[in-house]
Amino acid sequence: MRYLNLFSVVFGTVFLLSFCCSKKESLKDIRLLDFQPKSMLVVKETKVEKAKFPAIDAHNHLRGIVNSDEDVANYVRIMDECNVQMVVNLDGGWGESLDKHLKRLKEPYPDRFIVYARIDFSKIDAPDFPQYAANQLEESIKKGVQGLKISKSLGLRVKEADGKYLRVDTPKLDPVWEVCGKSGIPVTIHVADPLAFFTPLDGFNERLEEVLDHPDWMFNKPEYYSVDELMEQRNRIIERHPNTNFIGAHVGGMVENLELAAEWLDKYPNLYYDTCARIHELGRQPYSTRKFLIKYADRILFGTDGCSDGAINANMFHLNWRFYETDDEYFDVSKAHHYQGRWMVYGVFLPDDVLEKIYNLNAKKLYPGL
Ligand SMILES: [Zn+2]
Repeated sequence: MRYLNLFSVVFGTVFLLSFCCSKKESLKDIRLLDFQPKSMLVVKETKVEKAKFPAIDAHNHLRGIVNSDEDVANYVRIMDECNVQMVVNLDGGWGESLDKHLKRLKEPYPDRFIVYARIDFSKIDAPDFPQYAANQLEESIKKGVQGLKISKSLGLRVKEADGKYLRVDTPKLDPVWEVCGKSGIPVTIHVADPLAFFTPLDGFNERLEEVLDHPDWMFNKPEYYSVDELMEQRNRIIERHPNTNFIGAHVGGMVENLELAAEWLDKYPNLYYDTCARIHELGRQPYSTRKFLIKYADRILFGTDGCSDGAINANMFHLNWRFYETDDEYFDVSKAHHYQGRWMVYGVFLPDDVLEKIYNLNAKKLYPGL
């Protein structure tokens, strides 16, 4: 019995030691998912509930609230609390959908919402598509839309009969860009996507976890145009239609390279950018961002892109104000849109005159009737 006890003590100790060692060893192979380090920094944390100047959110998606007057009223209450003067809703579309958006948003709150149209690409192969699209847009403008949204589907999703992706600079859309120019409504155009989505899906991809969650956001395949090609196509239409104002969504799709984004602004006077869903990218390069936003203060519009979890919440706005207005360091803005990578951001404490332009003065210049 005594020998048995001794045996179990020795065996138990050896087992425990080897277990501890192997656990320590295995930490070197910790799964990415399990590595969630907590910052030990003790730094200032500013809660900014109201924008310093009335803000116009130039890029938002309200399709989730237009089925209920109560949801819209709730949203207006949050806008009031956060000092959001207006929200630009890009989801109007055309036909019945557009009627619903106008009825729920524009009719009861004409000074609080702007509604955008979209183009029906389902008839892209019809010989009369160019005229059909232009006429449809003119009809939408008569109903009250104040802008046109083009999603990344153009270039990355819509295919023509030959099986190839519709080019962003297709001549089929020229009449549409002309209608926008003549009517004085801007085109908010989202072309391409974060650069990491066009690079291999491997351990070097800086947006790895995000793309694993959304495999359809991966465009690193031979069938797709490259980012460079897509941007060239987009810039060609901007050049071809100098009387039409284009707002390049997501900092013109080139937030990772602000020098290049700036070159395009210098080259195309009819090009503007919105900042929607990109404070996460802007905030990890705070010195470049601050200089960029100050230099191009007349060409940038504040936007949020709404919240991808669909919730109507004020936190999204609070995080934006914190980013633009404070010099807070190393904070998480994933709740302002969605998780976009393993890094934190820094506030860019913009001067008042810049803040006011980005928050509302530029939008007031670009939208008809403001
Ligand atoms: Zn959007």
